[in-house]
Amino acid sequence: MASRLLKFFKIAHEPPHVRDAGERICDFDEISDEFIREKAAEQASRCSQCGIPFCQSHCPLGNHIPDWLQLAAEGRVREAYEVSAATNPMPEVCGRVCPQDRLCEGNCVVEKAGFGTVTIGAVERWLTDTAVKEGWIAPIAPEIERGESVAIVGAGPAGMAAAERLRRAGFQVTVLDRYDRAGGLMIYGIPNFKLDKSIPARRHEALREGGVRFALGWELGRDGTIADLRRSHDAVILAFGAYAARRLDLPGEAGMEPVAALDFLTASNRKGLGDAVPGFEAGELNAHAKKVVVVGGGDTAMDCVRTAVRQGAASVTCLYRRGRDTMPGSAREVKHAEAEGVTFQWLSAPARIGEGHIEVQPMKLDMSAGGRGTVLPDEGPVWRLEADMVIEALGFSPEDAAAMAGGARIELTRRGTVKADPKTFETGEPGVYAAGDLVRGPSLVVWALKDAITVSDAIVRRFANAREPA
Ligand code: FAD
Ligand code: SF4
Ligand code: SF4
Repeated sequence: MASRLLKFFKIAHEPPHVRDAGERICDFDEISDEFIREKAAEQASRCSQCGIPFCQSHCPLGNHIPDWLQLAAEGRVREAYEVSAATNPMPEVCGRVCPQDRLCEGNCVVEKAGFGTVTIGAVERWLTDTAVKEGWIAPIAPEIERGESVAIVGAGPAGMAAAERLRRAGFQVTVLDRYDRAGGLMIYGIPNFKLDKSIPARRHEALREGGVRFALGWELGRDGTIADLRRSHDAVILAFGAYAARRLDLPGEAGMEPVAALDFLTASNRKGLGDAVPGFEAGELNAHAKKVVVVGGGDTAMDCVRTAVRQGAASVTCLYRRGRDTMPGSAREVKHAEAEGVTFQWLSAPARIGEGHIEVQPMKLDMSAGGRGTVLPDEGPVWRLEADMVIEALGFSPEDAAAMAGGARIELTRRGTVKADPKTFETGEPGVYAAGDLVRGPSLVVWALKDAITVSDAIVRRFANAREPA
C-alpha cells in the first residue's frame, strides 16, 4: 500500500478556512471553520514522521503528534483521538488557543524547510470535536471510590483538568471558585471568537456528571482560608490564577479613567453569555462608536483590540512600546487584528492622558545588551492620539496568596507567585499544592494543563498505598 504520509511536497499547507475579516467582525463567533474529514486526513498526511519530532519536544504536554497524525491520515480517527487525548486533558481547547506558531507548528521541520507547517493544532481540534459528535468521549466513571477528598481552589483549566484526573482515579473532589461559572479565563478572559464558550461549559458538565462537586461563588480569603480547607480535606490544590492587573498610573487630567483589560473582556464575555452587565450598558465598558486605544502588546491586548472592533468602535489603535518583532503576542493574532482594521503604533508608549486624547512618547530599542533590547524614549516629539476609551493590557500578577493562608505555610516568590516544589508542585505546607498561573505567573492554557497533570499525579502517588480505597 502506498504511504499515506510524507505528502508535504505534493500537498500544500491548507489550514481550515478562516472567515473574511469583513464578515467575522460582525459577530463573536469563532473565526475558523472546522476541517472536513478528507481535509484533516490530507493535511495530516503532510507529516514526514520525523525520528526526532521537534513538534513534540516543543509541545509543553509532549503530545505524541506524529502518531495521531499518522492515524488521522490513515482514516483511523477514533484511535487518533484516543492517542491525542491520552496526553492532553483538553485537546479541543489547545487546538484553538495554543500559540502554535511559537510551539508545535513553529518547530515543525516541514515549516522549517519552507513548505508550510503541518496544521497540527487544527487536526487536534478536529479530532476532539469529532469525538464529541460521535459520542466517543468516555464519561468520568471511576473504577473504585477512594475515601480521600481533595479541594481545588479555582475552576480554570488547571483546576478543571486536575479535578478530572483525580476523579477518574476515584478521589472525592470539590472545586471552589469565586465566579458563578466554571472555566476561569476560558470563560471570562479569552473571547468567544477564539474559544466558543460551549467548550469549557461542556467540560464543566462532564465533571459534574462524573461526580465532581462545584462550590461556585465561594471566594478564598472571604469564605475560608487555605488552612480551613486543609483541615477538612486530605489535599488542597491552589489554582486560582493571576488576577492583579498591572496599571500605568498615567499622569493627566481627571475625566478619563483607563479601563483594565480584564474588566473590559469579562464584560464582553458576560454580555455574550446573556448576563446583565451594568458597566457595559452604562457605556464605560463598551467600545461602541468610540475611538479606542489599547496599551500593550501581548495576547490580552490582541483580544481587547479585536473585541473593540466587534463592538463597533469608531477606530481601534494598539500602542506598543517595542517593535513588531519583539512583541510577546502571537504573530498570528496580530495578523488577524490587522485584517480586522486595527492600527498598530509600534515603538510608542503612552506619556499622559487627557480628555479625549492620549499623548504618545516615541520609543527606541537599544540592542547593545542583547536579548529583546532595552526600551528607551526616543528624541522624536510627543504626539497626540485622539481617544475616548483607553484600555490597559499590561499583564497580571497573582493576588496575595499568603494573605489567604490563614496560618498555612505559603511562601511567595519575588514576582508574587506561589513557591512550589518543581517536581510535585507541593507548597511549603504539606498536602497543599499549587498549579497554573498562580505558580508560573501569566502563562498559557497548555502549561496550566501540564501543571494539573503533575500535581494530580503527585497526589495519586502520595495516597497510592496510604489507605485501602473505600
Ligand atoms: P485561570 O484560568 O485564571 O482560573 C483561575 C480561577 O480561579 C478563576 O475561575 C477564578 O475565578 C478563580 N479564583 C481567583 N481567585 C479566587 C479566589 N480568591 N477564590 C476562589 N476562586 C478564585 N492562553 C492561551 O494558551 N491561549 C490564549 O489565546 C490565551 N488568551 C488569553 C487571553 C486573556 C485575555 C488572558 C487574560 C489570558 C489568556 N491566556 C491564553 C492565558 C490563559 O488563559 C491562562 O494561562 C490560563 O487560563 C491559566 O489557567 P489557571 O487555571 O491557572 O487560571
Ligand atoms: Fe500544539 Fe498546543 Fe496541541 Fe501541543 S497542545 S500539540 S503545543 S496545539
Ligand atoms: Fe510531522 Fe512536523 Fe512533527 Fe516532523 S515536526 S513529525 S513533520 S508534524
